[in-house]
Amino acid sequence: LNELFALDPLLNEEERDIRATAREFANRHLRPHVAEWYEAGTLPAREVAKEFGKLGMLGMHLHGYGCAGVSATAYGLVCHEIEAADAGLRSLMSVQGSLAMYAIYAYGSEDQKQQWLPDMARGEKLGCFGLTEPDFGSNPGGMRTRARRDGDDWLLNGSKMWITNGTLADVAVVWARTEDGIRGFLVPTDTRGFEAHEMKHKLSLRASVTAELSFDDVRLPHDAVLPESKGLKSPLGCLSEARFGIVFGSMGSARDCLETAIGYAKSREVFDKPLAAYQLTQAKLADGALEYGKGMLLALHLGRLKDAGQITSEQVSIGKLNNVREALEIARTCRTILGANGITLEYPVMRHASNLETVLTYEGTSEIHQLVVGQALTGENAFR
Ligand code: FAD
Repeated sequence: LNELFALDPLLNEEERDIRATAREFANRHLRPHVAEWYEAGTLPAREVAKEFGKLGMLGMHLHGYGCAGVSATAYGLVCHEIEAADAGLRSLMSVQGSLAMYAIYAYGSEDQKQQWLPDMARGEKLGCFGLTEPDFGSNPGGMRTRARRDGDDWLLNGSKMWITNGTLADVAVVWARTEDGIRGFLVPTDTRGFEAHEMKHKLSLRASVTAELSFDDVRLPHDAVLPESKGLKSPLGCLSEARFGIVFGSMGSARDCLETAIGYAKSREVFDKPLAAYQLTQAKLADGALEYGKGMLLALHLGRLKDAGQITSEQVSIGKLNNVREALEIARTCRTILGANGITLEYPVMRHASNLETVLTYEGTSEIHQLVVGQALTGENAFR
């Protein structure tokens, strides 16, 4: 597929090497197990995170504090390779690197960075990112979680929902309302009053841990606040980092679906000849490949803009909206090519399709990104 669109010449040697390492790791250590983890609705997240850490894949586009400091494009390519195995595994990496670590990196004090980032980059410590609440997802500005001063300390009360890595985390980055607006707090998860409960029975992103968090008079020291966090734009800044990874990641799911469907269509015979030899099948594959190629070109363009320090949040929205939507369409169409086999875990296609339903919703739903793009086009705010 990449050859058809001559994508590889658009990458430099370092980016190709990093991609090869991620692909080899995913093929050897993730793919053989992921269907089993998916079915069981769990994954050995700590072990996987340590392996990610050894390869420098956690917070890999951040500089210093034990982070690899590679290009944003290289980070995107790794998201692509890991999501080609499973979006849940890419979520483990994104939440750790782009949400939890980035929050500390961008808004933390020097002490907070020194305390958490090197261990998190190695995958020795895990983080989660608590923004969404039961009643506030697309509109996090309505959040009820509150931190108030109590002498020198802070007292945190409230709850968060749908928090990836929530029961695994050593530190939760929690966004709360204060008398100075919304701010981020670092909450060690062994603090009294902090509880995390795993949310079971998901039909999507099953190889990923999702949790509800509750804070009941959680007492935190004065320096638990992220000093540079100010208002909703701070968590949104983290989300923009993670969404950027999804622009590449979703195309990893799409690639795996297309490759699987092409292989299947060549070997499956219907009405005495290979499925791949029928025009209807080729039309499905050709249309899917076009969207894949366009999605990758968009991802690489956004990668170059980000590396030049020129990317805007609207452009990240365009990438997330387009690539996740098209990846889902590709996954659904590839599923039809596999017929009944397509609905099983023996093939990755339905697993990807199901995961992409979550990816369409988290990190800003497709509707929210349409509204972002709509506002950029018209100047009209249609959010409320
Ligand atoms: P709602 O906001 O209730 O939206 C419902 C529907 O209404 C959607 O279709 C939405 O697009 C639409 N809608 C909303 N507003 C408008 C509008 N103005 N105009 C038109 N339509 C609108 N959150 C975290 O903080 N941290 C995490 O680690 C995390 N991990 C997640 C993992 C999983 C598996 C999932 C499923 C979610 C996760 N989330 C996480 C939460 C996710 O970000 C939210 O689910 C998402 O923001 C949507 O919020 P909601 O589910 O409350 O939907």
